[in-house]
Order: sequence, then structure tokens, then C-alpha cells
Amino acid sequence: MLEYAAMRFDIFTLFPGMFAGVFDDSILQRARASGRLEIFLHDIRAFTHDKHHVTDEAAYGGGGMVMKPEPIFDAVETILGKNAADRPPLILLTPQGRVFNTNIARTLAQQPQLALLCGRYEGIDERVRVLVNDEISIGDYVLTGGEIPAMVLVDAIARFLPGVVGDADAPHQDSHATGLLEHPHYTRPLEFRGMRVPEILLSGHHAHVERWRRNESLRRTFERRPDLLAHAQLSETDKNFLRELGWSEM
Ligand code: SAM
Repeated sequence: MLEYAAMRFDIFTLFPGMFAGVFDDSILQRARASGRLEIFLHDIRAFTHDKHHVTDEAAYGGGGMVMKPEPIFDAVETILGKNAADRPPLILLTPQGRVFNTNIARTLAQQPQLALLCGRYEGIDERVRVLVNDEISIGDYVLTGGEIPAMVLVDAIARFLPGVVGDADAPHQDSHATGLLEHPHYTRPLEFRGMRVPEILLSGHHAHVERWRRNESLRRTFERRPDLLAHAQLSETDKNFLRELGWSEM
């Protein structure tokens, strides 16, 4: 069996307990057990020095609570080092960041180590941004904290690490990785409640199965996400099939 180096994540959060379950089950748990993935959770509250372990304060000018800078600086500099040039990239999870997608996940999977900073309340004190190398949003909506976005990043990035997903090709053929939505899947039984598996999938003819899958992938994308077709790599055969469906090239 091939041996791979571990990719390491350091996650800074006020709620480390939220990650149990997501990281302790299934594929991510196996990736950790096999040494392919290392995840270290750092409780920002442990880096406070006052009696009440205060991590947030009222915003200057009014309008809710904001995460104080001191515990975050202390946590990052203690765990990752004082010298910014020697630290792994620190990513702030924020609805104001660039919107996460499969290309970003694939690119980040090349890094040996990443650090993630989860915000809470109205967010972080603006001065924390000098510590941060990248800002990522998981979509145009607002969650209560950066913990779920951090889980989303770790999961999507881990799928691109060799040895994490059983079928090494799968992450590169899934929806979005190819620029299209994936074709439908079927398994046993052959017939279920009057619905039969398409005959072509039983034919054993590899090339015909592949063409059917490609066409169904094109059909799905055209029907559900036609915007993706503008950037997808399409052959003349693909384009002819799409034109039959009513697609017209811009
Ligand atoms: N007041 C902030 C704003 O309007 O930009 C939103 C703060 S939100 C209630 C609290 C924290 O949740 C943020 O600091 C961030 O870490 C996280 N968060 C919320 N929505 C997110 C998203 N779509 N992507 C990434 N992180 C998000």
C-alpha cells in the first residue's frame, strides 16, 4: 500500500465540541486513523488571561458582540509561531470571503498544512485580519459561526487527498469537478416498484455506457445548471447532443 504524508489542519474555535461526530465518523475518521489527515482543535478561550475567560466584547459604536483580538493573536502565535512567514496559511471563515468551490478545495489540498479561524457573534475584531492569509465563505447566507464552514472545508479538501476516498478517480469525476453535474447512478435491484435500470448499463459495452453517462451528465447540467455549460470543456459531440436538447452556444 502507498504511504502518503498527512495533511494537517489547525482549527481555532470557541466551540471545539461541535466537531465531534463529523471528524470522528466514516471517511474523515478513517483518514485520521490511517495518518492521512491530522486535525488539531484549539479552544480560543484557553488563551484568555482574565478570571472570566472573556473572548468577546460589545462593538464600539454599538451593534452586538465582537470577538476580541488578544486571545486570537495569542492562540495563533502560540500554536503556529510568532513569525508570520513560518506559519501555514491561516484562513478566516467569513460570509465576506471568496466563495468556496471544488477548484479552491483541490488547490488547498496541495498544501501540507492549513489553519482555519472560526468567527462567532458579529464576527472578529477587524485587527485580527492582519493574521489572516485568505478569507473563505461557504455561500451567500449567514450562519451562527465559522465551525460548520470549517467542517465543510476540511471535508471537501480531504476528498482530494490521495488515499482518502476509496476510488481515487471519484473526486475528479464528481459533480463540479468536471465542470458538469454527474450522471445518474443505479444499483440492485434491477427493477424496483416498476422502475427499471436503463438497459444500456447492463450491456457490458464500456464505450456505450460512457457515452450514455456523458450525455446524461450534459442533460442534467443543461436542465439544472445551464450556467455551468459556459465554462465546461465540451467536444463537438457534446455540443451536438446539447443542441438537440435546445441549448444554444453564447
Ligand atoms: N456580521 C457578520 C457579517 O455580516 O459579515 C456575520 C457574522 S456571523 C453571524 C458569525 C461568524 O459565522 C462569522 O464570523 C463567520 O466566521 C461565520 N460565518 C457565517 N456565515 C458564514 C459563511 N457563509 N461562510 C463562512 N463563514 C460564515
